[in-house]
Amino acid sequence: MNASAADLKGLHQLLLEYRTIEDELDRGPKQVKARQQIIQKKTAERDAAKDRLMELRKLSDQKGLQLRSQETKLLDLKNKLNMANSNREYDIIRTQIDADTMAMSVLEDEILETLELVDAAQVEVGRLNEAIQKFENDLKAHSAEFESKVPALKESSDALKKSIKEYERFLPSDVAGMYRRLVIAHGPEALAPVEGGTCKSCNVNLLAQSRVELNSGKIIFCKNCGRLMYLADKE
Ligand SMILES: [Zn+2]
Repeated sequence: MNASAADLKGLHQLLLEYRTIEDELDRGPKQVKARQQIIQKKTAERDAAKDRLMELRKLSDQKGLQLRSQETKLLDLKNKLNMANSNREYDIIRTQIDADTMAMSVLEDEILETLELVDAAQVEVGRLNEAIQKFENDLKAHSAEFESKVPALKESSDALKKSIKEYERFLPSDVAGMYRRLVIAHGPEALAPVEGGTCKSCNVNLLAQSRVELNSGKIIFCKNCGRLMYLADKE
């Protein structure tokens, strides 16, 4: 028994459905992987931001220590100033005090700037932590949703595979080999409906001879694109 046009149309439909299901089964793990990669990237960014924050805190601590030692030094100089024995000594100490006071004011400005940078770095770490949390929640929800769909998808996939095999059994042996190669190369597009005398795969009009053959129920391949053709509707 040979395949009729209706069988080929049904086979085409099944191949299309099968691909849709396989694509969905394929897409799930890919989407999970893509989300995991985003989380990895954000985590690396967050760790770098944390390092930056630690460096800035260290710098701010160092400058704080420096400031306190300057304050001690200045206090010491002020005591010496009170005990100066000559105008010359007084002038030297005074000049030193002025220079140190200036240096301290610069240091204080630097400390303020560093503290602002510390604040900004802290905000950045917080922002990245929130983003990571959001992506992780999203990943969890997505994985759970996909996993819940897998059994039904696999069941459909198995059922479709079985039905496709049933249809394929009706392909004449001289057609089956070519059909196999076409499916491997093009998937469901191995088959092409003919509508209004045109192959819907390549949109080229069929030769009169091909039309007669198709109408008589013969199984033929498109002379232009090589697809296995079937009449979409009665013509
Ligand atoms: Zn064609």
